Amino acid sequence: MAVVGGGPAGAFFAIRALRAAKALGRNVHLTIVEKNGLERPACPGHLKESCNYCAGGISPNLFDILDRNGIRLPPEIIEGRAESLTIHGDWKSIELPVPAGRTMLSVFRGTRPQNRPGRYLNFDAFLLQTAVDEGAELIAGDVRDIAYAPSGKPVVRFRRRGSTGREGETIEADFVAVATGVNQAPGQDPSADPLVAALRRTLPGFRPPRVRRSLICEMQASGEALRGMKAEVHFAQHGSRDLRIEMSSLIPKGRWMTVVLLGPSIDRARPSERQAIVDRFLALPHIRRLLPRDAAFSPACLCFPNMTVGRARGLVGDRIALIGDGAVARLYKDGIYSAYATAEALSECLFDRGGDRAALKRSYLPLVRRIDRDNAFGRAVFGLSRLTFSHPVLSRIAYQAAITELKTRPREKRRLAEGLWKIASGDDSYRRILAAMVRPAAVWTILWGGALLTARNLLTERVFGLAWEGFGRYQTAVAREEVERKRRAFATGLALPPASKPPQFERMYSIRIKASQERILRELGKFGDGDRRYFKPRLLDVHRTAGAPNEVGSTIRYDVSPRFLSFSLVLEKSVGTRFLLYRVRDGFARGGLLIFDIDSVDADACALSIYVSFDFSGRGGFPGRLQATALRLVFPAFVHDVLWNHSLCLLKHVIEVG
Ligand SMILES: Cc1cc2nc3c(=O)[nH]c(=O)nc-3n(C[C@H](O)[C@H](O)[C@H](O)COP(=O)(O)OP(=O)(O)OC[C@H]3O[C@@H](n4cnc5c(N)ncnc54)[C@H](O)[C@@H]3O)c2cc1C
Repeated sequence: MAVVGGGPAGAFFAIRALRAAKALGRNVHLTIVEKNGLERPACPGHLKESCNYCAGGISPNLFDILDRNGIRLPPEIIEGRAESLTIHGDWKSIELPVPAGRTMLSVFRGTRPQNRPGRYLNFDAFLLQTAVDEGAELIAGDVRDIAYAPSGKPVVRFRRRGSTGREGETIEADFVAVATGVNQAPGQDPSADPLVAALRRTLPGFRPPRVRRSLICEMQASGEALRGMKAEVHFAQHGSRDLRIEMSSLIPKGRWMTVVLLGPSIDRARPSERQAIVDRFLALPHIRRLLPRDAAFSPACLCFPNMTVGRARGLVGDRIALIGDGAVARLYKDGIYSAYATAEALSECLFDRGGDRAALKRSYLPLVRRIDRDNAFGRAVFGLSRLTFSHPVLSRIAYQAAITELKTRPREKRRLAEGLWKIASGDDSYRRILAAMVRPAAVWTILWGGALLTARNLLTERVFGLAWEGFGRYQTAVAREEVERKRRAFATGLALPPASKPPQFERMYSIRIKASQERILRELGKFGDGDRRYFKPRLLDVHRTAGAPNEVGSTIRYDVSPRFLSFSLVLEKSVGTRFLLYRVRDGFARGGLLIFDIDSVDADACALSIYVSFDFSGRGGFPGRLQATALRLVFPAFVHDVLWNHSLCLLKHVIEVG
């Protein structure tokens, strides 16, 4: 048997076929011809060099498949293990934790970037080594032709790497799996490739799949700048008016970050514009704000590879079949997984049904068609999510709906978050993702939890004169289960007595700020100062009436319109650089708490959390009790959310940017 191309499809096919042969007690000789192969590597595992033009995202699907096949990636190949995946919309970013039981890794597929230590240990070389360990022979050679011999068997004609002879060599095989991908010459029309021309002669009706140009770039960051982003993966489906991007991903990998871009600006770009496009992309406000402020990037390598977006026609003949990208790929996500799926289906077909054209059409082609059909749903999924997340109002509605769900539903019942996770990670079929997106329950969540609340919040911002100009917008809502955990941390850190009953009003917000605890504490000390740059809504006059910043006993007065809502806060306790506890001294929330918690989450950043809780109280007597009950019924808690959400984003900006 011969396999042309030793990328994932070729290596997976070799592994599956050799294992199937062993299980059936059949003696199969399998040769992989890979043009970038290294037959006599300096070290074990260094079987391939060059690039495979891929972001190296190992999807949860693929991780499960590797696991099921007993293929364990060595730790030195794994560059990152994502803990969260963030979708960047025009309004705000939605951070989605990787669900329990799902694993998302990142790897380098090839030997680029060139100045990377240990670059010969990479995903493709490891898979190829696994195939060789199963018994495959590796030939480093460039295949130029596949044609039928008079015996009816296919003959692979190749030139061995480094050979100077003009004739080349041949292998006559019982079966040839063609796994050459679509990047024989990155960014060029695959039809121009000599091997594709040869396949057209050999397989009547053969047409390579439709491809789309993408841009991939390995950016090297200065120093340890990306340390704080190591467990993150980012997606954005919009650029700007000048830079038209439909899809982008950023995957930090140690000192490198892989950037992938797709969209009309990439479709039309000239090779000389590559660097300028990446620079403009990194300077977009929604991209700039997620990168460390002091990070400088230099491109370690950059190119315009093809991405498969259609399916090949006439891709099987007697004893010949195409697999991987050269046949079909999952749209925009998970191409390595679909490379596996095609390799597995072909191997099963060969051992169960045979390798003639009729058997291949009956048992292998249905899988290719299934992936292609699902991609049609994928187009609708990506079209809808792009429309939503790139539109100022729609993206705010989607964000609000996701946040309402986060705050009100237990983790296992967050259907919107689950849908968004699946869109970004490709962790389901596109048909099922689309069906979930248009389900009545999802539409209701978006209308009620999203559209209505967005309208109400917009109105509140108007009333309080809050503008979103000149600073970034970030998530400040806290997930239901996190509220419980943080509440316990406050109680322990501040030695609070256990509460006898839940408070009548309780709110919590949190934001990640890239600064030290001391720096954040200093800024919080300005809470009652006239020159502070955050928490200055209209209709609310907040000022210190006694004491010094962050000094126990200092008093902050909230003068509110209407006046009966005014009250004072006294700083009752401070614990190191971590906690500040204010107590409400008077007014309708008398005895209530306002807690600031500055929790150091890693070497570069802290999570600043704000906790407010109180019971409604009146002046005493029946009228007071009546007032408290009335307030409890009509108190607009969302106003609190809107004010603190705006203020925390501003505070982050003041601290991080100045
Ligand atoms: C920009 C970009 C980012 C991507 N990111 C991801 C991602 O994060 N996760 C994911 O799952 N998928 C991703 N993909 C898709 C993924 O790269 C492909 O689906 C996957 O590589 C397909 O594997 P393959 O083996 O079919 O082809 P390839 O990986 O292209 O392998 C083909 C192999 O054949 C060899 N070859 C070619 N011609 C010849 C010849 N004539 N003779 C001998 N050998 C030959 C090549 O050297 C190569 O080793 C991305 C694709 C692009 C373009």
